Amino acid sequence: TDSSLSVALSELTEAQSVAVAWRDGPMFVLAGPGSGKTRVLTTRVAKLLADTPDRSFRVLALTFTNKAADEMSARVTALVPEQERRALIGTFHSFCMQMLQQHGSHIGINPDFAIYSLDVDRQEILRDAIKQAGLRPDDVRLLSTIDKLKSQLIQPAGSARYFRDPSDGSRVEQVYAAYEAALTQANALDFGSLIAQAHRLVTAFPGIAGRYRKTYAYWMFDEFQDTTDGQYRLIRALAGEDFRNVFAVADDDQIIYQWNGASYQQIQRFRADFSPQELQLPTNYRCPPAIVSVANRLVVHNLQRTTAKQPLEAGKTSLKYPDEQHICVLRYSTDDVEAASIAEGIAKIDRAQWGEVAVLARTRYMLEKLQSALTQKQVNAVISQRRDDFRSPQFLWLAAVLRQGLRPLDRRALEILTGAFNRWFGTDARVDLIVTATELTERSLLDEWAVAVKAGLGDDVNGNALVDLAATFAKEPARFRQFVDAVLAMIPAQDDEASDIAEDRAAWSDLVRSIGKTIGRDAPLEQFLQELAIRSKEAPVGSNTVTLMTIHGAKGKEFDHVYVVGLAEDILPSFQSLKAGENSAEMEEERRNCFVAITRAREWLCLSYADNYRGWNKQPSRFLLEMGFSLPDQPSQ
Ligand code: ATP
Ligand code: MG
Repeated sequence: TDSSLSVALSELTEAQSVAVAWRDGPMFVLAGPGSGKTRVLTTRVAKLLADTPDRSFRVLALTFTNKAADEMSARVTALVPEQERRALIGTFHSFCMQMLQQHGSHIGINPDFAIYSLDVDRQEILRDAIKQAGLRPDDVRLLSTIDKLKSQLIQPAGSARYFRDPSDGSRVEQVYAAYEAALTQANALDFGSLIAQAHRLVTAFPGIAGRYRKTYAYWMFDEFQDTTDGQYRLIRALAGEDFRNVFAVADDDQIIYQWNGASYQQIQRFRADFSPQELQLPTNYRCPPAIVSVANRLVVHNLQRTTAKQPLEAGKTSLKYPDEQHICVLRYSTDDVEAASIAEGIAKIDRAQWGEVAVLARTRYMLEKLQSALTQKQVNAVISQRRDDFRSPQFLWLAAVLRQGLRPLDRRALEILTGAFNRWFGTDARVDLIVTATELTERSLLDEWAVAVKAGLGDDVNGNALVDLAATFAKEPARFRQFVDAVLAMIPAQDDEASDIAEDRAAWSDLVRSIGKTIGRDAPLEQFLQELAIRSKEAPVGSNTVTLMTIHGAKGKEFDHVYVVGLAEDILPSFQSLKAGENSAEMEEERRNCFVAITRAREWLCLSYADNYRGWNKQPSRFLLEMGFSLPDQPSQ
């Protein structure tokens, strides 16, 4: 209602109010963690909508992950119910996907394009392309090089000149060209192409950019510091010469996707291109003062840092503990002991609060250790991580059949559904034989698969029923929702919440809910599949469940209790950054990783390290010393 917005507005600080009330013209908010950047952005979306009842008035807000976009939508809905439909809230990728669905035909992109989001699928395509072009098989390794080029909007033709060694360059160019040709032939786009093609579209057809400027009166960007070169140039091209209502919030101390193409440069370009009014939000409302103070001590060790930002002030007033008790530093003998002791500590926390506990680590390996230690103590814990795909054969099969239904010739989908079904029912259907059979019988791949797999199924009732369902669906792909419901009813329920099936089921229903919100419940199959491809298949974390996540996944989030484990040299900072050296860009990025991790805590922060990881002796992380802690003389266990 109107009043929840006015309450939200009244809770803002003066600086935050200025940002929220900012109307026309470019604005850049540079501010540290927990200073309310995301809150400001969300409240501004709500206020703009509330202030402008005009039904054709729309705003655009882009953020980094689908989860963050969903949270932002939910918050806007709470502030101004019914109005959120006039806000387009999404990620760069979902925004580009929509743009290409609507206007891609101008540059020869059929709107029912497939999205290849998985590296395994992309490697498969690249392998085929390489084979056809007669190139070297081990050049599939070049996929990440191709991605780097794409993130800078460099097209295959002429890409050779970006390499010092001309023969390397021409090899990359050939492989890249073959890969792109294969994608085009399959009417498919990968994540890099979504951005690159959207950029191509709006530069070739300025009228389309003009349409976006007219439709969306105000544009907002959260986490702007992690914008890539290509994403920035897209914004620039969309804005053209005269659109000025751009509003970005960023923290240059939280750039943690440098390896992915993010850099301070994008912030500089935004300043140079738009000459925005600049505003700082100096006060942190998330963390206790003790944490703000060590965070400040840590980050000044980065030399390539802009000095434009003032040190973070502590603004949180309702503190849970006496000041010195907000942080602890623990030393253990080994990684096993570290995991077991942290788990023991968490087990002592009231079960009702487990949902507010997070363990953060630089790598997934430590999280897996923690998960098994927590399970031993009967604590529910989920590794929350962007997942590329489902893990259970049941859901892999379901998703691949849907894909095959839309694209009867999609051999990759056939491979997935065959492999998954074989795992599920112990059958041994072979893709190569299925493909050969279709050449003789002229039946579709899916029909031929049904024949092949039925031969091995015998009288398995469920198996046969599923095959029949798939065959029926293939004849009427528009009725895919009935097919999905029928299959879901046949996937066994699992008592164990930590099982792949249970996690996939939770992820699936979460996805379907969130896709429904975006495209409506009656959207056609091709749009459903596109949405399914760009969202990560992450299971939602239950309320009494501890969250285990990598630091990269924790960006923008906050928890009452935060444990950061593995604060040792070679881990955080990583081995690679140590190799790169003391003041290297890599080392500074590791420091920012540490900075992001410790500033997630709302009440309590526990930092830990062990003398020995995986059998190797390690030194305590330099970051602990930089933060000014005196370290324990002996491991506590
Ligand atoms: P990050 O850089 O980590 O993304 P952020 O700048 O986006 O942080 P927010 O997540 O918006 O920060 O806010 C951090 C916390 O502080 C949230 O819990 C938010 O509700 C709270 N907060 C922000 N502003 C205020 C305020 N004026 N009064 C009270 N609490 C506030
Ligand atoms: Mg934020």
